[in-house]
Amino acid sequence: MAFEGLTERLQKAMRNLRGKGKVSEADLRETMREIRLALLEADVNFTVVRNFVKRVQERSRGAEVLEGLNPAQQIVKIVNEELTKTMGEEAVPLNKSEKIPTVIMMAGLQGAGKTTTVGKLALKLKKEENARPLLIAADVYRPAAIDQLETVGKQIDVPVFQQGTDVNPVEIVRNGMAKAKEDHNDYVLIDTAGRLQIDEALMDELKNIKELTHPDEILLVVDAMTGQNAVNTAEGFNDALDITGVVLTKLDGDTRGGAALSIREVTQKPIKFVGQGEKMEALDVFHPDRMASRILGMGDILSLIEKTQNDYDEKQAKELAEKMQNNTFGFEDFLDQLEQIQKMGPLDEIMKMIPGMANNPALKNVNMDPKDLEHIKAIIYSMTYEERNNPDLLNPSRRRRISRGCGRPIQEVNRMIKQFNQMKDMMNKMSNGNMSGMEQMMGN
Ligand code: GDP
Repeated sequence: MAFEGLTERLQKAMRNLRGKGKVSEADLRETMREIRLALLEADVNFTVVRNFVKRVQERSRGAEVLEGLNPAQQIVKIVNEELTKTMGEEAVPLNKSEKIPTVIMMAGLQGAGKTTTVGKLALKLKKEENARPLLIAADVYRPAAIDQLETVGKQIDVPVFQQGTDVNPVEIVRNGMAKAKEDHNDYVLIDTAGRLQIDEALMDELKNIKELTHPDEILLVVDAMTGQNAVNTAEGFNDALDITGVVLTKLDGDTRGGAALSIREVTQKPIKFVGQGEKMEALDVFHPDRMASRILGMGDILSLIEKTQNDYDEKQAKELAEKMQNNTFGFEDFLDQLEQIQKMGPLDEIMKMIPGMANNPALKNVNMDPKDLEHIKAIIYSMTYEERNNPDLLNPSRRRRISRGCGRPIQEVNRMIKQFNQMKDMMNKMSNGNMSGMEQMMGN
């Protein structure tokens, strides 16, 4: 999960200030030292760390003059605001052209996730704007790249323009653009070639494509898991191409967070999207403020709500909230939820967007292998309708029958029911206003 170590260390750094009516110079120095180490360990660029700590320190010195919050709370607030600033303050929307098509050129090193991201972005535009994008396959050096883009195109039902690997990429793009004009596509997404590292030939080719198409967006796709290499790559591409934004992929696997925290300040270009999984739906707009809260373990409830809203109507959500509150949430509802959640993305990612959950030790004991979801569903399918709606009926003999019915061991059935009850309990508490994460962190 993204930023686990950093979240833990930052929380620890600030926990030392809890309960203090006044923060001494020595306390502050110690906290700043901890924050600095936490960021360096998270592989954040050295200069970015230095500037960040300097700003937090300066603002924290005057912090006790603020009314209403205790010093620890003020410093958490300052750290949160400065993290947001470091990542760019506000979400930056996609550039759009006055006349169609809007041209989006995607660049990046091999394996960064460029082809996947082309598909994800096309799907997003299709879903959110009813757009009709055309994908152009201009990576002719890796033959599999064209097949991959074709597969992605089929998967999301978006046309792909390709001319195999024997035509010059600039020519392919020229022909693809003509095709898009003919078909009145409103977006063109160009999947350009990647290399293992930046070289002159690649940059020349990309410059030629840029010159030909005058793209509205040049999005650089970088792999968050490569940390400072991602930052260096971004710098290199930006120097050559003057990119308009960055897509940070594989944030789901990035445990340190160095790239997310450094790219904006080093390149002065915004991170526009983040990839958080292999599924086509796993592309999100990058919101610096929400990301900062997530890094601090305060949860990312807004993104969670938005995610849920995409597939969920308000009435359903209200009914669910009522069930949580009244503790009448049954397995039938659980099944519904599982299906919603499976559409949303990896379960542990989703859970960690809930305030107070990011570093909640209880979460470490919850098993969230996606295969388990299928087993859980199998177990629920083997329950009768009454049992699903009234889990208290599940006595040992019923559990044995269910175990035989779904072919899962009895221990697993028992464990699932136990976890379900724990979860129900937790949801009931949370929906009744006990959201303790932020409060704990703020030292209350
Ligand atoms: P390209 O060479 O840059 O076009 O990279 P690909 O699109 O082929 O992606 C390389 C690998 O990264 C593939 O296995 C993708 O499924 C995977 N990938 C891409 N984006 C993400 C992401 O956001 N999260 C995860 N976990 N995997 C990703």
